[in-house]
Amino acid sequence: MHLFNTLTRKKEEFKPLHKQVVRIYNCGPTVYTYAHIGNFRTFIFDDILRRYLEYKGCEVKQVMNITDVGHMTLDDDEHLEGDTGEDKLERQAVLEKKDPWQLAKFYTAAFMDDFKALRLREPMVFPRATEHIPDMIEMVRGLIDKGYAYVVDGEVLYDISRFPGYGRLSGNTLKDLKAGARVAVSEKKRTPFDFHLWKNDPRHIMQWPSPWNEHGFPGWHLECSVMAMKYLGDMIDIHTGGEDNIFPHHENEIAQSEAFTGTEYVRYWLHVRHLLVNGEKMSKSKGNFHTVRDLFAKGYDGAEIRYALMSAHYRQNLNFTLEGLEDSRRAIRRLRDFLAHLETCRGGGTGGRVSRLCDGAARKFEEAMDDDLNIAGALGAVFNLVRDVNRLGGDVSPEEAAEAKALMLRFDDVLAVMHEEREELSQEFKQKIEEREEARKAKDFATADAIRRWFAERGYELEDTPEGTRWKPKQGAKGGGDSRKVGE
Ligand SMILES: [Zn+2]
Repeated sequence: MHLFNTLTRKKEEFKPLHKQVVRIYNCGPTVYTYAHIGNFRTFIFDDILRRYLEYKGCEVKQVMNITDVGHMTLDDDEHLEGDTGEDKLERQAVLEKKDPWQLAKFYTAAFMDDFKALRLREPMVFPRATEHIPDMIEMVRGLIDKGYAYVVDGEVLYDISRFPGYGRLSGNTLKDLKAGARVAVSEKKRTPFDFHLWKNDPRHIMQWPSPWNEHGFPGWHLECSVMAMKYLGDMIDIHTGGEDNIFPHHENEIAQSEAFTGTEYVRYWLHVRHLLVNGEKMSKSKGNFHTVRDLFAKGYDGAEIRYALMSAHYRQNLNFTLEGLEDSRRAIRRLRDFLAHLETCRGGGTGGRVSRLCDGAARKFEEAMDDDLNIAGALGAVFNLVRDVNRLGGDVSPEEAAEAKALMLRFDDVLAVMHEEREELSQEFKQKIEEREEARKAKDFATADAIRRWFAERGYELEDTPEGTRWKPKQGAKGGGDSRKVGE
């Protein structure tokens, strides 16, 4: 399998450090608001990578952090940087008049809901930054002891001039940074590009005592280094993130971690390109900003959103549109119809043609995925199999159909769009349906309507059939139709 390594800027053969066990760290969400579909494009990529490695028989140890300490400083249109500007979590907390701990908890729970709805496999651990403060203090102390960090006015800064490899990942070496320097010179810093490991701000809402000040909090870059190494060891196979994480976030992670351990930190760096919406960068001011929930409210389900977000190669810009989501809906329907069709095959057999088609499809699927996770090629192999088996018409025998179905389900171990969601949703949904049945029997139509609206808010409509009430994704929601308005 070959992966494009941002560090070497080429496709390299992927070989895990420990045979068959792959250690992966994913930069996770900052939980100060709902994650948007651009964030989820990256997380879905993380999931496909993990699932494909598992498909190939590897054991994957995957860690995705939850950044619940607030220091996202720039908004969605800009890069993230930890040293200047305002603190988003803090600002949002003030806006919502909630305590930042509560806010982080609320948005963490929302993130987990979206994560499940998009069929992402749960990592080995979701470490929270606020639960690793002592580990962070330990690493800062170590970096000071080793001479890579210094204390000024109760704050700790990393001295990038002490780390010769600085810039290897992003190309931003100290020399290049100086040449292009436009940053304000801070008297505190030895060089203007030194970054904070530990900050000091008595007005900050989240703060912890440390050896350097009483009202401090960790730098964002520090959190990821600490949590990655704590759960995965000093050397990690794969570290992923969005392309805007390359600099300064990942460059600084390398500087801290390698200075601290003296060994290579990450062997393969993988970065996902930006998501565009209607051809433009997503932003709230342009009105093309979507959360997963916005799309549920328009009637799309987790599989459809997942399909739309995974269907372009991760190193290409993905242009997300509602029309594309309609295409995803049709694509999934085609796959599910095919699975249903296979159940009905009663032919006498095709003389091994189905087997040959399956072998060819499996080979093409794997060739594509082995080539830096070429998902479009892999999907092409799947749909060619659907077309070719369908063409064999009524000849396909039940045994051949079973073989084709088994292969489709194996593909779906990676793609995770073919199985119906009902099983996972069913508990809560079933209960609501029962409550509605009771209400209808008691002629309590207000309650029955309220439950119908409850489903509509989640993107489902109810259908009363002689066998009972069923839920299904709302149809024909193309281009809008906010279902939250249904019945209001
Ligand atoms: Zn990170």
